[in-house]
Amino acid sequence: MKPYIIGVDLGGTNIKAGIFDEDYKVIKALSIPTEASAGSSHVLHRIRAAVDLLTEGSDVTMDSIKGMGIGIPGLLDPVEGLSIFSPNFPDWNHVHIINEMKDYYDFPVFIDNDVRVNLYGEWLHGAGRGYNNIVLITLGTGLGSGIVNDGKVLYGTSYSAGEIGHMNMFRNGRPCKCGSSGCLGRYVSALGMINTIKEKLNEGRTSIIQDWVNREHANINALMVSEAYDLGDSLAIEVMHETASLLGFGLANVVNMLNPEVIIVGGGMAAAGDRLLNTVRETVDQHALKLSGSKCRIVQAELGSLAGTIGAASYAYRRMLG
Ligand SMILES: [Zn+2]
Repeated sequence: MKPYIIGVDLGGTNIKAGIFDEDYKVIKALSIPTEASAGSSHVLHRIRAAVDLLTEGSDVTMDSIKGMGIGIPGLLDPVEGLSIFSPNFPDWNHVHIINEMKDYYDFPVFIDNDVRVNLYGEWLHGAGRGYNNIVLITLGTGLGSGIVNDGKVLYGTSYSAGEIGHMNMFRNGRPCKCGSSGCLGRYVSALGMINTIKEKLNEGRTSIIQDWVNREHANINALMVSEAYDLGDSLAIEVMHETASLLGFGLANVVNMLNPEVIIVGGGMAAAGDRLLNTVRETVDQHALKLSGSKCRIVQAELGSLAGTIGAASYAYRRMLG
């Protein structure tokens, strides 16, 4: 009987899940709504529903599944299997995932932070293959990050090492949910970039994007900035450049501190590609220590939305090996 592993990527909107064989080939993958507003026990029920759907009608029997990994946003304790706090889930406070799951499954279940699980995916199967020093940043609603240092994923004392998104860039900048202000993620993220363009429009600047949203600035999204950039819209070019330059300064600090071989940029906003990354690379070249900067490549993530599920499965397998 072939062994299989399940990987789950728990998001605020959707639960993505996949069954992988021993070579990490996807046997079946699916996505179902999380229904997060119904509370923590319902979300756990939805994860189990996703697992049922994965095995239904497939040749994979429950007793051939050897383990399951789940990537969860927010603060957690992967050793205890405890999700401490997750910003996207209402009624979510100290949810003991592993205890909640163990009555349902004979195989072991492991949890880790969603970005770290993405990091395992890109490290073992994507843009980080073969490297021992990696920084992954994900640019979505916010800026997430994970670090491999000398071949080991960094966790820190309370499993929250590598919060690059909360690096202070401005003494009196935009307020952040963490309680501080001027954090990198408040500027370099889909939401951050949208806020930058809105601020400039409110100051009287103009952009083709205003026509696309009928002057309803609340409807501006990050993809529009890339599209306007391609049409030569000067405000979109300026905002992309400013966002990339800030990311470059943040990453120059990261390069000086960690001396990575590769920085992988993933998440929805990474679709901006070289529009964003060329300025990031130039800024790191100019401002990081020369020896460290010259050894570090800055690349786009390779696995897209698969990174979360394949990463969760790989993480579970590594935990099973001890
Ligand atoms: Zn912050």
